[in-house]
Amino acid sequence: MRTRVSAPHGLLSLSAMPRTLDPELRQALAARIRFYNEMGIYEFYRRPQSGREREVPAVVDPTEIAVSEHTLEPGEEMSPRKATAVAASRVVEENIFESIALKPEQSVSDPVKALKIIREDLGDCTRCVLHKQGRKQIVFGVGNPTAELMFVGEGPGADEDAQGEPFVGRAGQLLNNMIKAMGIEREQVYIANIVKCRPPGNRTPERDECATCSPFLMRQIAVVKPKVIVALGAVAAKTLLAMSASMMQLRGRFYEFRPAGIRMNDRSNEPRWDGCKLAVTYHPAFLLRDPRQKGEAWKDLQMVMKELGMKPPKSNT
Ligand code: URA
Repeated sequence: MRTRVSAPHGLLSLSAMPRTLDPELRQALAARIRFYNEMGIYEFYRRPQSGREREVPAVVDPTEIAVSEHTLEPGEEMSPRKATAVAASRVVEENIFESIALKPEQSVSDPVKALKIIREDLGDCTRCVLHKQGRKQIVFGVGNPTAELMFVGEGPGADEDAQGEPFVGRAGQLLNNMIKAMGIEREQVYIANIVKCRPPGNRTPERDECATCSPFLMRQIAVVKPKVIVALGAVAAKTLLAMSASMMQLRGRFYEFRPAGIRMNDRSNEPRWDGCKLAVTYHPAFLLRDPRQKGEAWKDLQMVMKELGMKPPKSNT
C-alpha cells in the first residue's frame, strides 16, 4: 500500500511516518483532523522538511490528506486480515474525509438556506472571549445572498451591536454613500465583518478572535460566491489575505481570493466557483477621521467597478 499524507506537524512527523499507514492509524488521524476542523482550524503549519519531503507545501490543507489506491509494491503481499480491514476502512475513511471537506451548507443549493445553516452552526457563540465582553448580539451579515460584490469590515460597533446588522452607524452611512456612488444599492451587495461580536470599547479585534470567527465568514463567502470582495481596512485585508502589510502596500491591486478551509464544491449541476478577486480600501471609519483619503478610496472602488463592468451614475462622472 502506498500512501501520500500531508499531516499537521506534531500529529505525525513525515520523517518518522511509515510509508505504509495502518488503517486504524489513518482513521485516528482523520478523527483528529475533524476535531481540529470543528474548532475552526482548517490549515496546518508544518516545519519545512529536508530532501524530498520539501516538495510538500509547508501550509497544508487537511483535505489534501489523500490516500492513494492500495497498490502493492512488486513482491509485497498483504495479509488477508489486513486486506479486509483496508477494504472496509477505505469506504469509512473516504466518508470521513468527505465530511471534513464539505461544510453542511455545501449540500444545499438555496443560498438563503445555506446561510441559515451557517448561522445556526454559529449558535449563541462562545468560541472566543468576545461573547463575555458585553456583546448584545451576534452580527452575522446582511444583504443579497447571491451578490456579485461583497464588503467585509472589521467588527460591529455599538450601533451594529444594538441593531444586529453590520455597518448601520456613522461608518455605515458613509459605506452606504460609497455604494450609492458606485451606482448600486446597499441591498444589492452582501456586507459582513471579520468578527461577529462587538469588541469592548470598539477596540481592534485580537488575532485569535479573528482566527476563531473568520471560518464562518469564509463559509458565508463560499455561499454568496461574489465576483469581488472589498476588504475595508487593515484588519479585514490582513485576515482575508493572511498576510501582514501596510494599507499603502495592500491597496491598488486585485488579489486572487479563495476562502480558506473551504473545499470548492464541484457538484456538476452548479456553476463552478473558484474564488474571486479581492481589493483593499480604507475603512469608512478611517475616512470619517481623514476625509482627504476619500479620493483614494474612490479610486479603489472605480477599479472594482471596472472589474464588474459597472458604470457610475451620471452625477459622478
Ligand atoms: N465597523 C466595522 O468594521 N463593521 C461594522 O459593522 C461597523 C463598523
